[in-house]
Amino acid sequence: MKKPKVRELKEAVKGIFSKPYTTEFPYKPHTPSARYRGRPMYNKDVCVGCGACSQVCPAKAIDMFDSFEDGVPVRHLSQHPARCIFCGECERNCITKEGIKLTQQFDIAFFDEKDTVDEVQHNLVVCRSCGEVIGTEKHLRWVSKRIGNLSFAQPLLLTQLMEELQIKTEYEEKVVPPIQRTDMLKVVCPKCRRVALISDEKKGK
Ligand code: SF4
Ligand code: SF4
Repeated sequence: MKKPKVRELKEAVKGIFSKPYTTEFPYKPHTPSARYRGRPMYNKDVCVGCGACSQVCPAKAIDMFDSFEDGVPVRHLSQHPARCIFCGECERNCITKEGIKLTQQFDIAFFDEKDTVDEVQHNLVVCRSCGEVIGTEKHLRWVSKRIGNLSFAQPLLLTQLMEELQIKTEYEEKVVPPIQRTDMLKVVCPKCRRVALISDEKKGK
């Protein structure tokens, strides 16, 4: 019979006295290691609804769509653990760094997939002329804060700021075509702004 090597004997003796690598889950609660990549969850207070997490997700586990129910434009983001590969790209590319985080949650078995979906919603800003989606209110506020006083030079951000301060303006009503140069503060999508500029130039000819 082949005799066991010294190293193997040492391992066997060590194994008798050391703790097992496996845990007793589900009979006893299990605490994963600090670097464990578990279920990603939104932080609803910090997420600004930019949609970057949805765009970078390689497994298409984050759905994003804009709805206009009852005339209220809203952006919906939903994370689906059933499709997630726990790569961490959403967390790494989040513009606020804290909008979505991989948690320690590993026990995500489900009967109905809907029970595991984590959702967040944000109000949208749309162009008052063509209805084009510009971004979420929260995202624009986030940009304003980052660029500071420079936001006063950007009509869209200035309009947002005025709304936030509840300053009533003449720009609140919907733009009636044809778009005029005087509508420059009302129209916020690049296409409509170009139309406003061109129409003004044509008048000058
Ligand atoms: S961890 Fe990876 S796969 Fe899962 S939602 Fe984030 S980006 Fe998508
Ligand atoms: S702020 Fe972060 S979590 Fe929220 S939509 Fe943007 S990338 Fe996703």
